[in-house]
Amino acid sequence: MSEFAKEQACALVEKLGLKAPPVPVEKLARALGVRVEYSPFDDELSGMAFLREGTPIIGVNSNHHPNRQRFTIAHELGHIVLHRPHLETSVMIDKSRNFIPRDPTSAQGTDPLEIQANAFASELLLPAKLIRQALAERPGDLNDDDYLIALAKRFRVSLTAFQYRLENI
Ligand SMILES: [Zn+2]
Repeated sequence: MSEFAKEQACALVEKLGLKAPPVPVEKLARALGVRVEYSPFDDELSGMAFLREGTPIIGVNSNHHPNRQRFTIAHELGHIVLHRPHLETSVMIDKSRNFIPRDPTSAQGTDPLEIQANAFASELLLPAKLIRQALAERPGDLNDDDYLIALAKRFRVSLTAFQYRLENI
């Protein structure tokens, strides 16, 4: 099931025809007819996805770091693209613990919807093609944190999200 999620994300990135990172995730969401709204939620709440009169809405915690907000948008976009029937009947609310790479033993390990949304987000923000290209352009030591931090910065994701992706590429 998360293979399908990855394929969906991959297809979206292909359509963008991106030559270099970062992936413009908010612009992409808007191009898909999604409204992105920022609110100062409690720290525990990363974001949510729901329908308002048929329009998909992504709520993002404006107090979080911009890189985290990007991951939230990508994750919620995954719910909108992959789990539309759920949105027809309910609001999807994401506590930080639903996200990689917060806590590997938590919700993301068990709830298939969260696993799929995370796989989608990871693929969307960190497309394999762009990662390989970035590694080829500036080769370095993958065990060197400074090197990885510089790469994560180019993709505008957290270091942990980048490391997670490298292990799953
Ligand atoms: Zn979720």
